[in-house]
Amino acid sequence: MKSQEIRSRFLNFFKSKNHEIVPSAPMVMKDDPTLMFTNAGMNQFKEYFLGNATAKYTRIADTQKCLRVSGKHNDLEEVGKDTYHHTMFEMLGNWSIGDYFKEDAIAWAWEFLTVELKIAPENLYVTVFEGDKEDQIQKDEEAFNLWKKHIAEERILLGNKKDNFWEMGDQGPCGPASEIHVDIRSEEEKAKIPGKDLVNQDHPQVVEIWNLVFIQYNRMANGSLKELPAKHIDTGMGFERLAMVMQGKQSNYDTDVFMPIIQEIETITGATYQKTEKTDIAIRVIADHVRAVSFAIADGQLPSNNGAGYVIRRILRRAIRYGFTFLNTKEAFIYKLVAVISNQMGDTFPEIKKQQHLCENVIKEEENSFLKTLDQGLNLLESIINSAQSKEISGKKAFELYDTYGFPIDLTALILEEKGLSLNINEFESELSKQKERSRSAAQSTAGDWVILRQDDEEEFIGYDYLETQVKLTRYRQV
Ligand code: ATP
Ligand code: MG
Ligand code: MG
Ligand code: MG
Repeated sequence: MKSQEIRSRFLNFFKSKNHEIVPSAPMVMKDDPTLMFTNAGMNQFKEYFLGNATAKYTRIADTQKCLRVSGKHNDLEEVGKDTYHHTMFEMLGNWSIGDYFKEDAIAWAWEFLTVELKIAPENLYVTVFEGDKEDQIQKDEEAFNLWKKHIAEERILLGNKKDNFWEMGDQGPCGPASEIHVDIRSEEEKAKIPGKDLVNQDHPQVVEIWNLVFIQYNRMANGSLKELPAKHIDTGMGFERLAMVMQGKQSNYDTDVFMPIIQEIETITGATYQKTEKTDIAIRVIADHVRAVSFAIADGQLPSNNGAGYVIRRILRRAIRYGFTFLNTKEAFIYKLVAVISNQMGDTFPEIKKQQHLCENVIKEEENSFLKTLDQGLNLLESIINSAQSKEISGKKAFELYDTYGFPIDLTALILEEKGLSLNINEFESELSKQKERSRSAAQSTAGDWVILRQDDEEEFIGYDYLETQVKLTRYRQV
């Protein structure tokens, strides 16, 4: 089944259950100081759950563009390395605002997966909240008993607070959740280890596809929980993961959502997907990141030096560096992938078609300027190496390259390693912390919101600057 059809089956299914189908909210938040990017389908309905606004419809469904690269949900380090976490992805969701509750939410989720899509029930597991002593709440018996009507009891697993209790924040609406997981391993693999032992264990073929949240409490300022007068349903299902299941693939990247982009990368770069792990990671990173960056630009967020724009720039640079390092791409090419995305997703998200040329131009310009930086850095590094007195290159010099010329430190380390040289990491770190100290005191004397924002970003996104190479740079990530 084509992904287009999966999406429309979902929306039509919930339409038939009297849901209003609404458009995706923008991926880039414009007027929410607490969140830079939409990271879940419920974000645009937040005010309804908080009771600050009255919903026009009590049953809603949509597909929402999400980006998980900051704050509580930051999947960036996983992206490309695993096969089922993306930066940008679509979250299919259905909501009840004080309308139906657990019984219908569970029955419909089950019906959609097993009747409408005909996913075999023996490949599914569901989880139920086990309860929590501190919060004095019992196991979610209600959900457990409802699930028993649909699925064999041994396939209902108990889950802890981390996986099965959702909270909007320190205070406010919250409640237990039930997740649906799918086991797509071969029969042979299944015979070796029972699927239930692999649920929530980061197994690439036993993955969570749908999360059903039962919003029934309000977390009070003193930390206690109070039953809500009106109870709500908030669900989210990963569209690309569902496509993997429906298309009988082992990776989201093997579905028709990603394959056209990957094929274009192969054509342009001459690389072959599924040959070596390093190349594969690079290809997946680029295929993933170009979607995130394109949709951000289409939403009006250009790459820049602060706030959300800075995050977008870092994501794009990460893709450029993976190409540069592992696919040997020395010229701009990522911008050429926008046409594929626009062609593929333009019907569902018209903004990408409308802004295609802007996306292409912006990405191309960013690529060219960053490739120039990389090129200059390489030349400078070359002269540092040539004038070096020992096999260990000064951390001070590497820092200068990083700080003044924007040359990524892990690339420096990688190149040195390839030449049988090493880097004085302690020296580099000490320079880095000195610089952090300098910018901290500079920030203290400058009043202005953007300074604060930018500082946060730097703390939060520092990890992105380092490619995950074999070079031991883990300590930098904690800087
Ligand atoms: P996971 O445990 O796999 O990280 P999650 O519990 O963080 O997922 P939820 O917040 O429950 O995810 O989001 C609802 C659904 O969205 C998930 O069940 C999953 O199918 C999908 N999803 C979550 N994060 C991603 C991602 N980074 N890329 C693609 N799909 C995702
Ligand atoms: Mg997650
Ligand atoms: Mg989870
Ligand atoms: Mg979840």
